[in-house]
Amino acid sequence: MTDSCLFCRIVRKEIPATVVYEDEHSLAFRDIDPKAPTHVLIIPKKHVPSLNEADDPETIGRLLLVARSIAKDEGITADGYRTVLNTGANAGQTVFHIHVHLLGGRRLGWPPG
Ligand code: 5GP
Ligand code: ZN
Repeated sequence: MTDSCLFCRIVRKEIPATVVYEDEHSLAFRDIDPKAPTHVLIIPKKHVPSLNEADDPETIGRLLLVARSIAKDEGITADGYRTVLNTGANAGQTVFHIHVHLLGGRRLGWPPG
């Protein structure tokens, strides 16, 4: 659970990360293996494994509003960006602490693989 959860450990600063935004509820840091010039992960500080377990609309809504704000800081608002929430095995979720991917800085393909 939260003791061993990678992203909870990043919240507790037990594992280093390049943090781009932090407040009482949320943390955002650069993905260790970026898939685009901007690739930031936005997480709630509270441990929620995935969208399937999320029950608090404010927690979920906040993730997207923080993503929008970081997109502005990164200068990718006008050109466009993508926010992605992978849920479960078929979507390729590998870290079971809910996170929004913010991707931008290049043309992104659609549909995703
Ligand atoms: P998922 O596949 O679960 O949607 O996304 C997990 C993301 O976390 C991946 O894009 C992966 O590169 C990233 N990631 C995994 N371990 C670490 C880490 O230790 N630090 C950072 N900053 N990102 C990580
Ligand atoms: Zn966690």
